[in-house]
Amino acid sequence: MIDRDLESLAGKVADLILDSKRLLVFTGAGISTESGISDFRSPGGIWDRFDPDDFTINKFINDSEARRKQWQLFGEGLLSESAEPNAAHIAIKDLHEMDKLDCVVTQNIDNLHQKAGVPDDKVLELHGNMRWASCLKCRRRYPFGEIQARLKFGEEIPECLNCGGMLKPDIVMFGEQLPVGVLEESARRAVASDLCIVVGSTLVVYPAALIPAYAVQSGAKLVIINLSDTPMDNEAEVLINARAGETMAEILRQVKLKVKG
Ligand code: ZN
Repeated sequence: MIDRDLESLAGKVADLILDSKRLLVFTGAGISTESGISDFRSPGGIWDRFDPDDFTINKFINDSEARRKQWQLFGEGLLSESAEPNAAHIAIKDLHEMDKLDCVVTQNIDNLHQKAGVPDDKVLELHGNMRWASCLKCRRRYPFGEIQARLKFGEEIPECLNCGGMLKPDIVMFGEQLPVGVLEESARRAVASDLCIVVGSTLVVYPAALIPAYAVQSGAKLVIINLSDTPMDNEAEVLINARAGETMAEILRQVKLKVKG
């Protein structure tokens, strides 16, 4: 049973969605915790076992011992291949199918929006994606599963089979620039949006968190669905402190009801 508060708040969001012409959904780690992917920043996460200082781009490039440790973590499945999209990912895919979604801008690298069925060209990945690794020298791309298999068979620091160059997962590491094209496109879509729904982000990681800020500055309405506080809570038209899955599912239920009208 959905509690009455959630039901009425979800109803407000459903109205905003139906009024919207350009909806941008912004997602962070909180949308994927219900798929079993741990929030890297939360206690009990991987940083209890690994030192985040070893995970900078600088160390990856220049320190082979740090690079070995990083590959150890990547090999263990920083992204679990078996993780499945949850109700929140499915709800966003439903918005796409109803032609109500301009794009998803995500901080996540887990590929779950695409796995749920949102097409690649509607998913803007600010921090990259664990599906691929690339050679830093010749740019050849490898499916990450292939590299993972090589790690499993004992390679500690996999190299490019083509040129022997350094391989790196296609994710943005600490201290690494965000992909400029994706960031610019996300900013452009944010400025053009009339509604921005934040799902599962605490909006503290920059520059990613600028995207909802750009949307609001350009006059878009803001909805925040997150378990904890965010610095933009005061600017939200609707603020829902609840889990992403049940909340998005309830919003979609009401959108569909209202569409049938
Ligand atoms: Zn190469």
